[in-house]
Amino acid sequence: MSGEVQREPLIEVENLYVYFYTYAGVVKAIEDVSFTIYKGETFCLVGETGCGKTVVSRTLTNIVPPPGRIVKGKVIYHRDGEEVNIIKLSEEELRNIRGREIAYIIQDPSAALDPLYVVGYQIAETMVDHGTVKDFKEGFGRAVRLLKEVLIPDPERRVKAYPHELSGGMRQRVVISMGLSNEPKLLIADEPTSYLDVTVQAQVLDLLRELKRKKGLTVLLITHDMGVVAEMCERVAVLYAGNIVEVAPVDELFKRPKHPYTVGLLRAVPNPLTEIEKLESIPGTVPNLIKPPSGCRFHPRCPHATEKCRREKPPLIRVGPSHYVRCWLYAGRGEEVAKSE
Ligand code: SF4
Repeated sequence: MSGEVQREPLIEVENLYVYFYTYAGVVKAIEDVSFTIYKGETFCLVGETGCGKTVVSRTLTNIVPPPGRIVKGKVIYHRDGEEVNIIKLSEEELRNIRGREIAYIIQDPSAALDPLYVVGYQIAETMVDHGTVKDFKEGFGRAVRLLKEVLIPDPERRVKAYPHELSGGMRQRVVISMGLSNEPKLLIADEPTSYLDVTVQAQVLDLLRELKRKKGLTVLLITHDMGVVAEMCERVAVLYAGNIVEVAPVDELFKRPKHPYTVGLLRAVPNPLTEIEKLESIPGTVPNLIKPPSGCRFHPRCPHATEKCRREKPPLIRVGPSHYVRCWLYAGRGEEVAKSE
């Protein structure tokens, strides 16, 4: 045995463009985004607030809210040996995938739970809707087991609790149990700890890691927090102003960041793998995507910007095994490719 890990793709996003048609103008929120999520890995999308992480994640089940529209691209889902383009599916076909094969945990557990129903009912409802259980009675039984799995104490009692009777950490665990209830192939966790205090954050991240290990889940984790990236992910895509600017295995990204934006992001937070004396901020702000900067979208904030950066969009360059960067600084120092792994 070679010991090499076989990497089978689960999701391949290809050349994706998402625009929002607002009264103020067309917001070019996502342009030319491509990446692959492999079975069994935790893949991270990281970037500042407003860079388009959540919009990208929503394209995976084709739920971009109006006035947004996917204007170009493919989202290929490898479904039991078949390649399905999610963007071309009908609403009925998508209903079988959303919440069942691809589940979503949103940032704010309070927004995900209905205050009028006990949590057991809400977990059971997710399973009844998708035919995973035959009725609510069976659903309640499964809900107790799911609450136990996400380490909620006294699950027989808590299954009958209303959301307001639970702490923030417990509500997030309930939302995770709802996400897992139909045994999805991909779990999308969108900033799953940003509403929780630091100690509860650590518990929820531990729980997600343990569940992933036990169930062999594939996870797409969306975060702005490089600490969460370091702890949870195997590979990372860095998103800036609707473009992926770097993709790399997590250790490689922390040890050898290439893109000036990634370097800036890592200097702006305490880095768990290196010692930095002083934290720095990235000058300027995220651009208005109604009129995005020409050429490289990062050029107004980049200390290395040249005339070429202002004029021409940089190509994607493979700079190492599984390491890709979109920056003119690396032209001629790697192989230009159409898309990253
Ligand atoms: Fe900076 Fe130019 Fe690289 Fe963009 S392409 S990150 S402006 S050096």
